[in-house]
Amino acid sequence: LDPSSDHLSSQELDMERRLRPMSFEDFNGQDKALENLRVFVQAANLRGEALDHTLFHGPPGLGKTTLAHILANELDANIRVTSGPVLDKPGDLAGLLTNLDERDVLFIDEIHRLSPVIEEYLYSAMEDYKIDIMIESGPNARTVQINLAPFTLVGATTRSGLLTAPMRARFGISSRLEYYSTDLLTTIIERSAGILEVPIKMEAAIEIAGRSRGTPRIANALLRRVRDFAQIKGDGNIDLKIARFALGQLHVDAHGLDEMDNKILLTLIDKFSGGPVGITTLATAVSENAETLEEVYEPFLIQQGFIVRTPRGREATELAYRHLGKVKGGQQGG
Ligand code: ADP
Repeated sequence: LDPSSDHLSSQELDMERRLRPMSFEDFNGQDKALENLRVFVQAANLRGEALDHTLFHGPPGLGKTTLAHILANELDANIRVTSGPVLDKPGDLAGLLTNLDERDVLFIDEIHRLSPVIEEYLYSAMEDYKIDIMIESGPNARTVQINLAPFTLVGATTRSGLLTAPMRARFGISSRLEYYSTDLLTTIIERSAGILEVPIKMEAAIEIAGRSRGTPRIANALLRRVRDFAQIKGDGNIDLKIARFALGQLHVDAHGLDEMDNKILLTLIDKFSGGPVGITTLATAVSENAETLEEVYEPFLIQQGFIVRTPRGREATELAYRHLGKVKGGQQGG
């Protein structure tokens, strides 16, 4: 149930594709972002132009890749998919870019992980729809300029803080995705259950939604695991009882906090007496990078009221103590 997309098996990726909304209509939540995107897409369609380059940032599993596909669909264009770490040779990038048709979407996931060389190439591609490529080597080496079809680069990142300033400046549209409410996740779970053809009671959908860490990817993953329990230990229907049983078996806690979330809270409370502590110190203590802590984990913990940000650093709240069965300023509780 790792929310990061890096470790999905091919079977899980297949399943993600099946459950992926394909149009604005199908997509639940992120109203603020969607409202604007609809306008920009309509305007681009009306003018027959490529959509401005678009950046999606926010924690993993919230729909960045999904939105890239939706944009391509709504633009009635093709999409090519790659990612920062994969794209390491200028030749590969040139190949991708020169194969794009007018208004196509090039989706680069984890765009903060592009090498500087590749970034350089992208700048002129994004700005002028041109690239300079080096042909031959040694004394015969020379560059030739190639014109590209006007295209849209859609970038996704969990770590917008790591994006270089020139890169960031080249995106005309930038949209931050937010965690989903339990209500929205319930709707998403019911939709997914429909696609998977598994009957689900509303209370069960709400229960799963509440433990999904505000994240559709986790909601869908939990739904699939609960469905397994319903089929093997029950009659195939997902009701509240089987949902609770399955979630218990999966050790998903009542708030859907994952291992790192709990580690952060525990460290904050045990090692730093609940804080306040600076983000860098806390990050070192949990062996995580400060940027990741700040952009991937902390937003959810703050949103859920487990951590507060103060001018002197991060502090664990009463709720965090209760969640871990600890007593503030005292010994370990039950
Ligand atoms: P990201 O790229 O941000 O890591 P994805 O776009 O890959 O996230 O989404 C992960 C999964 O969650 C996908 O299977 C997708 O179907 C589902 N999902 C994400 N956002 C939504 C949404 N708003 N409505 C329904 N399903 C969603």
